[in-house]
Amino acid sequence: MELIRQILQKTILPLREKREIFTSKFRFSILFRISLNYVWLFVLYGALFIGLFSFLFLSTEAKNYYETGHQIITALDQQNDSIEAGILLHTSLPGNSPVNPYHNDGLNLRIYNTKTKETIYDDIEFSAPKERTLFRHVYYEGGRAKNGLVFFLERPYESRGTTYNVSYQFDLTQNTMALSSLIPGTILLYLLTAFLILHSGKKGNAKLFSVISSMSATANRLTVNNLHSERLNVEGTKNELKDLATTINGMLDRIETSYESQKQFVSDASHELRTPISVIQGYANLLNRWGKKDESIMEEAIEAIQEESKEMQDLVEKLLFLSRHDKKTLKLNKTSFDMGEVMEDMIKDTRLIVKDRIIKVPQLQPVTVYGDKQALKQAIRVFIDNAVKYTGGEDTISISCENMNGDCVITVADTGIGMTQKDIDNIFERFYRSKHVRNEKISGNGLGLSIAKLIILKHTGRIKIRSQYEKGSTFVITLPKSAVVG
Ligand code: ADP
Repeated sequence: MELIRQILQKTILPLREKREIFTSKFRFSILFRISLNYVWLFVLYGALFIGLFSFLFLSTEAKNYYETGHQIITALDQQNDSIEAGILLHTSLPGNSPVNPYHNDGLNLRIYNTKTKETIYDDIEFSAPKERTLFRHVYYEGGRAKNGLVFFLERPYESRGTTYNVSYQFDLTQNTMALSSLIPGTILLYLLTAFLILHSGKKGNAKLFSVISSMSATANRLTVNNLHSERLNVEGTKNELKDLATTINGMLDRIETSYESQKQFVSDASHELRTPISVIQGYANLLNRWGKKDESIMEEAIEAIQEESKEMQDLVEKLLFLSRHDKKTLKLNKTSFDMGEVMEDMIKDTRLIVKDRIIKVPQLQPVTVYGDKQALKQAIRVFIDNAVKYTGGEDTISISCENMNGDCVITVADTGIGMTQKDIDNIFERFYRSKHVRNEKISGNGLGLSIAKLIILKHTGRIKIRSQYEKGSTFVITLPKSAVVG
């Protein structure tokens, strides 16, 4: 088996490669290739069909000859005392019918005693083959030499305790000739049918493949400007090509959505950058006009420019983070660390900077987390910064870190301005800021939570929000055990 496989690999594979190289020089339409395939299959199976048909025909004829021969011998035996007696009766009486009435019609017999080897009847004209053969070409001496087809068969015959060997010889030359005379007509008829099938099949195939030309025409017309209107036609009967068209349409929908959101992102980003730029420009003009002489104006302008440029830097950094990363491209540098410790440090920092808020820490348990420490710190900082930003002097901020059956649960709650249901539904959208936050001119750009969500989700975590307008908000971040153990 292995040898055959190796031989086939050495012979067929290079041939196939050569054929591929040769055919790659041409451009064949799929329709032509399909037709060619069918023609090849028609020829192959046609030849197989004719071969099988001839075999069946000739073997049926041979079987008929055999049954006739067997009947002759049985009759000789049963109508007389023995086979020999029957043969004697036929040959001794003048004018009597021959022993084998078909000996001129292609059926010949020879009977001999198996034990004594004595031939008791023989009307076989051709030389009998030494071994048993099925089909055999012999020269037929009928005036001129010609090829014939003879079928030779030897069978034992038991009669009254004596075993005979009976050789049957059937001359199938006539039958073969009859069959051969039919073959050209059959081939012609077959080719005609094949041609008709191919011809009418081509029309159906052309209709089927019209989807492809419509696909390439649509693809040629596609630009970013008509991305929303150009789609492939998927009406009519469903088939694999229509499925492909539906898949491509789905892909175009996704490209359109992501293109639109990218466009929106760029326009929102430009809009957000416009405000600090105009503020800086305003103060620079102020400096230019009055600042040179008036020191207090100069100080105010420099302070404002510093503040605005810091905010702009923060915005640009966030924009860069969001444009570079999404859930698929964000790479995490994972290590095992104690989240309790990290939270403790962050709470300390917050207490240092924010003096006028009441910061409570109801729980601070150690939990080992397997994740990107810097990224997780960046995400949690967003929730803490927001809690500070959206609360007033008297408000309380509670921060806790708990180990809940292996899950790391971080809660950041505040008694600040809170959110409406509409806000809760939208706060993770890029650039979304609630109406009252914008009205009260609290600084921010609506990108912090988008970044935090991206990082938490990448750690297979969840974020839950509870909030009431003017009462306060609670954010619960859960990092599941899988992210914790790693
Ligand atoms: P930013 O704070 O820079 O506006 P974020 O993405 O962090 O951007 O937050 C989006 C919006 O969600 C905020 O503008 C605010 O309206 C709302 N928000 C977030 N955290 C809180 C909070 N703790 N209390 C009230 N509103 C909040």
